[in-house]
Formats: sequence, structure tokens, C-alpha cells
Amino acid sequence: MTQDTDQRQPIRAAVLRSVGEALQFESASLEAPRATEVLVRLVASGVCHTDMVVRDQFFTTPMPMILGHEGSGVVERVGSDVTTVAPGDHVVMTYMSCGLCAPCATGHPAHCEHMSLLNFGGARMDGSFSACDAHGHDLHDHFFGQSSFATHAIASERNVVKVRKDVPLELLGPLGCGIQTGSGAVLQAMKVHAGSSFAAFGTGAVGLAALMAARVAGATTIVAVDVNPARLALALELGATHAVNSRERDPVEAIREITGGGADFTLECSGRAEVLRQAIDSLGLLGTCGIVGATPEGTEASFNVNEVMIPGRRIMGIVQGDVVSRTFIPELIELYRQGRFPFDRLVKFYKFEELNQAMADSESGVTIKPVLRFADAA
Ligand SMILES: [Zn+2]
Ligand SMILES: [Zn+2]
Repeated sequence: MTQDTDQRQPIRAAVLRSVGEALQFESASLEAPRATEVLVRLVASGVCHTDMVVRDQFFTTPMPMILGHEGSGVVERVGSDVTTVAPGDHVVMTYMSCGLCAPCATGHPAHCEHMSLLNFGGARMDGSFSACDAHGHDLHDHFFGQSSFATHAIASERNVVKVRKDVPLELLGPLGCGIQTGSGAVLQAMKVHAGSSFAAFGTGAVGLAALMAARVAGATTIVAVDVNPARLALALELGATHAVNSRERDPVEAIREITGGGADFTLECSGRAEVLRQAIDSLGLLGTCGIVGATPEGTEASFNVNEVMIPGRRIMGIVQGDVVSRTFIPELIELYRQGRFPFDRLVKFYKFEELNQAMADSESGVTIKPVLRFADAA
């Protein structure tokens, strides 16, 4: 609270104050960006499953905190050391990483040694944060290096991705988390290849992004598994060649039959241990199962050891698609422009003030990817 108070940016923010309850809309303020930071005026923010996981504290974080981590907006101010973005640039904010540890240095920043601290710690690496509430009390921010459920956010130069101005900026926030998670798992982490078979377990935003990416990669058998008939129908429209309702049919048996023995690649997007077992058991020889579904802390799962070892199956943990967002997000935007990655089909827009309803609609399955628009904000 020692920064120049006259440079503070007044904001409206949605704040998590009590576990499992609705986020509260408050007036607050942000300090001016530090040397390597960027002040972004939000145009829109996606709502991601992880926001609900943190609201319910399945992942514990400090509180009170401003959540939100799929922000897109316009750069308003930059710190003295920032060189790659300037005021007026359109940016997507993505997860934060340190840039210096071994995974960061070898091109895997999503597996940064400091991932938990930098994305869930509610502060910068040094423990400081930018926000305070209307009474001058501390408010944690820097959630995923952004805290995008607010009219403005302080991000780092490192986790903003400059994007072209001829695509609707309000659509692009989810590319910074949910959409890159599914598509990156397929294109970058597992490297699904032309002619292969792929199955997604769970057809929320992550699973549907994965299915669209599998089509881009040239997979020729693409199976969607879910219990929601409307989502399965959408999956078929977006590129799945087969849909399996796991309430009606054992998905392992179905996938073995469809693929003639088992899939080359499967992706667990549901965050459920019993579904992970199905995703492993659905693999063919030398198949790879990726895990992207977040589970409550401490969740364990089982598999048959010989049935993993002898067929040479692999099980792979994947965060944020293991992508470097600075190059991957512009690639997704280009695919979108060419009509090959229609992720806009997953999006439903809400007003910022409708955030809690958007979360409820996401949890009930009514909406696949809610996106809050700040232009409508009062
Ligand atoms: Zn790192
Ligand atoms: Zn997310």
C-alpha cells in the first residue's frame, strides 16, 4: 500500500470472499504497473472450470481474491522495461510462469516449477499484489497472473500475448486457458497425427477444443464421449466421427469396437478418477492417454499395471496443453480465421454482472464456454 495512490486505477471487480459462495461485485483499485507489468482494460473474460474449483476451494488459495483467468483486452499502460507491447495493443492474457526454471528454459513453461505460486498464490512471486478494496484493505490478485474478473487487470509482459486487431477481441480470452488446454494437448503435447484415432472423455470447452484440434491434425477416427446428448450432437458437428453416450453404453467397449482394438490417443477432460480409468483402458497398443481434467487435491486413481506396461501404453499429465502461448495462440487465431477451428461455436456471452449466473450455467451444462463482456458493464 505504499505505491503512488494518485496513479491507482479504480476498478470494478468480482471478489471471492467466502468459500463456495457467489462472487461479490465491488469497487477496488490497482496500483500502477511495475517495470515489467502491463495494465490491461478488459474487453471480455472467459469463465473456466478452474474459477469454480477455486471458488469452492478444491484448490486452496488466499482470500479475498479477484478470480478470472481468460481475459482479453487493450493495453492501457506499460511499465518502464516493457518492450513487446504498447498502449492500444490487443492482448490475450494467459497463465504465468517464471521463465527461468528448467521446464521454462526448455520450452515447457506450463510445467514451471513455480506454477502453483504464480497462478494460485494470489500475488507476484515476491508475495506482493496490486489490488486493494474500497476500504484500503488488501485484496489478492494476480490469479493466473491476471485476475480478469475486473474492468482492469495488472499482468506481466511475460503472460500477455499480442493478437491481430481484425478478429473480435471479445472472443479471444478463452484461448488463454481452456481452449489452448484442449487443443495444445492434442497438437503440442500428445502430437496426434494424421490417420490416427483419438477419443475425448468429456465434451466441455476443453474436450471440444481437443476434438477440433484432432480434426486439424488429420486424425481420421475422432470419438466424443459424454452423457449430454446435446454436447455429443455438437461434437459431431465440430468434427467428431463418432459419439458415445457413456450412460447408454460402456465407452471402453465402444471405443475398442470403433477403432478396431483401441485408440491411439485418449484425453481425460472430466476430472473424474473412474473416467481416467476408462480413458486408459480404451487405448490400443502404444497408445497415449493425456490427463487435463483437474480433480480435487488428493484424488487418486487406479490402473492395471500389466495392461499399461505390456501394450506400451503411456499416461501423460498435461497442463495448459504444454504450449508456449506467445506462438500457439496466434496459430489458433489463424486456424479460426480459416474456418478450421470454430471455437466461437462454444461461446455464449454474458454481461460482467451476470458472472454468477454464467458460472451456474457452465456447471449445469447449459453453456459450454461463458464469456463476460465488459463493454456492457455499468
Ligand atoms: Zn518456471
Ligand atoms: Zn482455466
